[in-house]
Amino acid sequence: MATIINGKELALSLKQEMAANVATFTEKYGRVPHLVVILVGEDPGSVSYVTGKAKASEEVGLKNTTIRKPDTISEEELLGIIDELNNDDTVDGILVQLPLPKHIDTDKVIAAIKAEKDVDGFHPMNVANLWLKQPCTLPCTPKGIIKLLKRAGVEIAGKEVVVVGRSNIVGLPVSKLLLNENATVTIAHSRTRDLGEVTRRADILVVAIGRAKFITADMVKEGAVVIDVGVNRDPESKKLCGDVDFAAIEPKVSAITPVPGGVGPMTITCLMENTIECFLRKMER
Ligand code: NDP
Repeated sequence: MATIINGKELALSLKQEMAANVATFTEKYGRVPHLVVILVGEDPGSVSYVTGKAKASEEVGLKNTTIRKPDTISEEELLGIIDELNNDDTVDGILVQLPLPKHIDTDKVIAAIKAEKDVDGFHPMNVANLWLKQPCTLPCTPKGIIKLLKRAGVEIAGKEVVVVGRSNIVGLPVSKLLLNENATVTIAHSRTRDLGEVTRRADILVVAIGRAKFITADMVKEGAVVIDVGVNRDPESKKLCGDVDFAAIEPKVSAITPVPGGVGPMTITCLMENTIECFLRKMER
């Protein structure tokens, strides 16, 4: 029987610790950290993520403002809003919910956010500093994955780690963080030849593809640790499911994250942590 790595539980305890810390901020600094989330359009997935971020902010005691704009907003207007927020001293974190409509250049928008207020860790300066091992804001999902592994007592140093997926927001940064923890990291992707042969080598397998139950039991080594980042709808049951076939894999591995309740809650929790870190860096400058 595998250990189920409970992200919901860890997220809850981290949020309680943060709330206790934030409760001291008004006396120490005169105010609490302020996170501004910009939501463009009405995509149901994005609306639900933004609602989750507002709820978590409330739990931790942060000030949260959500700016909602129609998907007809021009790039210029969006950049204007970011510029105002960059120059607003009472705003500590700025997050633009992705994806953006096609007529808006996402890279340009991300680069327009001041790196010190980039709580998602997507700004080119934060990305560069991550790869240079310099102080930076880490992207939330990769940061959450490392916390989950550590809390579950998984030894990372020296392990054979396979990351499936090479996106800028998950696959690549989590690979770098695992490398920083002294793992031997292989990055697989859609052009990898014989994916199963590669994933079967993994002591720790991290999967961030976006395809329901794509990783099957025969692709996983006995006793491996599996981190499932995927958030998909099961085409049959219509329920949320990950990128790995949990029911088939769980009996074979030593530890695994569930979907929902694994990586997802840690992503939002790390966003709260990043907002607090941005606030404290400013206050302590
Ligand atoms: P992207 O679509 O940006 O990247 C997917 C990656 O998977 C690509 O690198 C792609 O390879 C690779 N891939 C696609 N098909 C295959 C295949 N058949 N075999 C091997 N590799 C494949 O996705 P994201 O990284 O943004 O997200 C991945 C998943 O994680 C999604 O389900 C998303 O919803 C979820 N997610 C969950 C979060 C959470 O907090 N729980 C946060 C962020 C994402 P290639 O580069 O060659 O195209």
